[in-house]
Amino acid sequence: MKGTLWYTGFDAAGLAEIKEKFEKQLGVPVELEYIEDKSLIGGFIAHIDGVSYDMSFKHRLDNVRAALHDKTGDIPDRKAADSGDLETDSNILSGRLSKMQFGGENPADGGVDESIRPLVLLPKRLSKLKFSGEVYVYGTVTSAGDGIIQVDGLSGRRYGELLHLSGGATAMALEIDGDHVGAAVLSGDPEVDEQVTGSGHVIEVPVGDSLLGRVLTPTGEPLDGEDAPVCSAHRPIESPAPKIMQRKAVSRPIQTGLISIDSMIPIGRGQRELIIGDRQTGKTTIAIDTILNQKGQDVICVYCAIGQKASTVAEVVDTLKKNSAMDYTVVVSSPASDLPAMQYIAPYAACAIAEGFMYSGRDVLVVYDDLSKHAVAYRAISLLLHRPPGREAYPGDVFYLHSRLLERSAQLSDEEGGGSLTALPIIETMAGDISAYIPTNVISITDGQIFLESELFHSGMRPAVNVGLSVSRVGRSAQRAAMRKVTGTLRLDLAQYREMSVFMQFGADVDSATKNMLENGIRKNELLKQPKHAPYSLAQEVCLLLAADNGIYGKVPTDKVGELSACLLAEIQSTAPDQLANIERRYDFDDDSKSYLLRIMNRAADKFAASL
Ligand code: ATP
Ligand code: MG
Repeated sequence: MKGTLWYTGFDAAGLAEIKEKFEKQLGVPVELEYIEDKSLIGGFIAHIDGVSYDMSFKHRLDNVRAALHDKTGDIPDRKAADSGDLETDSNILSGRLSKMQFGGENPADGGVDESIRPLVLLPKRLSKLKFSGEVYVYGTVTSAGDGIIQVDGLSGRRYGELLHLSGGATAMALEIDGDHVGAAVLSGDPEVDEQVTGSGHVIEVPVGDSLLGRVLTPTGEPLDGEDAPVCSAHRPIESPAPKIMQRKAVSRPIQTGLISIDSMIPIGRGQRELIIGDRQTGKTTIAIDTILNQKGQDVICVYCAIGQKASTVAEVVDTLKKNSAMDYTVVVSSPASDLPAMQYIAPYAACAIAEGFMYSGRDVLVVYDDLSKHAVAYRAISLLLHRPPGREAYPGDVFYLHSRLLERSAQLSDEEGGGSLTALPIIETMAGDISAYIPTNVISITDGQIFLESELFHSGMRPAVNVGLSVSRVGRSAQRAAMRKVTGTLRLDLAQYREMSVFMQFGADVDSATKNMLENGIRKNELLKQPKHAPYSLAQEVCLLLAADNGIYGKVPTDKVGELSACLLAEIQSTAPDQLANIERRYDFDDDSKSYLLRIMNRAADKFAASL
């Protein structure tokens, strides 16, 4: 029998003894190839005739780590494990350790806790072996290429399980057919005939506060040149969405800082709002502005870049750093140069990191930029695994791909800690076609969409939000009272203006009432324009909308609206900063404040108009 032995800390005599022991117990001569591997810390791993004998310290430590941290996403257990209570932690640890009987190879008689070790599946003839360690089956790579491996002889694996290859590569099991496993390569360059073992668990990411400010791969490796983050907790990248009884209604807003969105398409904490549009229409900018606007709002942000150029991601990180937004942000990136499997797991990993915060009672915002590229990566994997291609060559489960991701967004109930996970998925359309396969899928999964148009973008309307096609199905109930008071007719005014402006293109003569309405529409449209990375606070938005609602912008020509906005805000900031602070604190304003603010703004607008 031939086999391989990875070891550390044994001399020649020790190795000979191990060989002898194997020969005695297997009853046949064994020929071993010896490979020293310091990463085992101590002990050895032997692969002999389809069975792996793991007696390494590393494996035992992994088991202890796994025992300490919940791997199921089950909340009560997680709370106990994360309690920070030393006594609870040590109780769990000693409980789990006492169950770990390294001497028993058969789970039925060893009293071994199944949840903390890989499934033990032994051929019958080996079941009498007495070994102090982990004994399980390994498989052999039969084909490798295009980021996909096929493995034979590997039984007892589960979907999404992390597989280790003897050459150091890792892969994710995606196709399981008896003891045949099809897997997508995550890292390394596997070759035919390499040996493969299952890890017994799905891929995990570290979670916790030490991730803040970091740029990571979907498996939690650092991309920012610093040391790997030290986290005491891990979460599987896939876990079930919170159940209905664990949730409550969305009732608080996430302010994007963009007037057009906060006023007409408000987003609530726990909501899923799609940002959809052609390429280069400002999709990423809206998401980044929203992250910038969370400064001081006690919201953790996770930005997940999927299949983008590394330089684009670097620019985003740079913007976040310059605006000191990295303090509360984690970036997960799988650039276009990554293997499709890495791009495929990226949003799930980002979601798991976000869940870590949500389940500890925090509010989290996650941006998936973008899910079109995610679907393309999954299509590539599926086609290479020979799954039948469906519409647009996507596999049949492409809807589930995104639904199971977005269902994990939630506003948790008070009993669950009241945390929330708001998702801003991004989808790129081709020539504005929102009826293509992936866009319609994601539209139907989300609670609304912000539709961006190339035409608007190029005509200078930025952010290029098409107000007519954009909706938010649940956000209205989360909108702040102050905002609700000032947005009454905005959407209607803009719709009327758009209708009428079509007539104007033909040079039609219009009466003065229509002319007024048009001018009013133009000014409101101008008000919605905003430069990038300059989000407004809630109070600022409320003041500007109040001014627009009360005709203050009518005092200046239509091309001076932007300048007047800046002038009004500067005036309020210098003469009545307490009014702004009040709105920020109470999310509302009374009639006295309203008339006071209008008086200040009218005076400032008169002065500004006179100076023109
Ligand atoms: P892609 O499809 O390439 O991902 P995108 O839709 O994410 O593009 P962005 O990268 O956000 O678009 O923006 C495209 C360009 O438009 C960028 O150069 C950005 O700086 C600019 N831009 C976006 N929004 C604004 C804005 N409000 N004001 C000025 N420039 C903007
Ligand atoms: Mg983009």
